[in-house]
Amino acid sequence: MEVNAQSTPITASAAGICPVCHQAVPAGAYFCPNCGHPLRAQPPSVSTGRQIIVYLISFFLPPLGLWYAWKYLAVNDRKSKIVGIAAILLTIISLAAAVWLWQAFVVYVNQSLNQLNGLGF
Ligand SMILES: [Zn+2]
Repeated sequence: MEVNAQSTPITASAAGICPVCHQAVPAGAYFCPNCGHPLRAQPPSVSTGRQIIVYLISFFLPPLGLWYAWKYLAVNDRKSKIVGIAAILLTIISLAAAVWLWQAFVVYVNQSLNQLNGLGF
């Protein structure tokens, strides 16, 4: 369920004149309707499918998650900020899990080597 009625609030300064073709452009436009000149960066999507992709990347490819988090946190929109914070949390959880697994692995290898030593290898 998407609630688009209260999306990004549009400031008065966003409406104005295209710097390229000097035509009036509507408030909140990402591109000039006359010449196609990009007026401002399009915010990253907060659709459910997009969120799932961001979360999966955050968890399984931790450094990339922080890049997404930075992009989403830059958007002045509550839902985008939540996605950004969730991406950071998943990155932290993923890194903590990786450290924990690595420690468990090191302990396991040490125990195995000790057992081999005990058997006279
Ligand atoms: Zn234009």
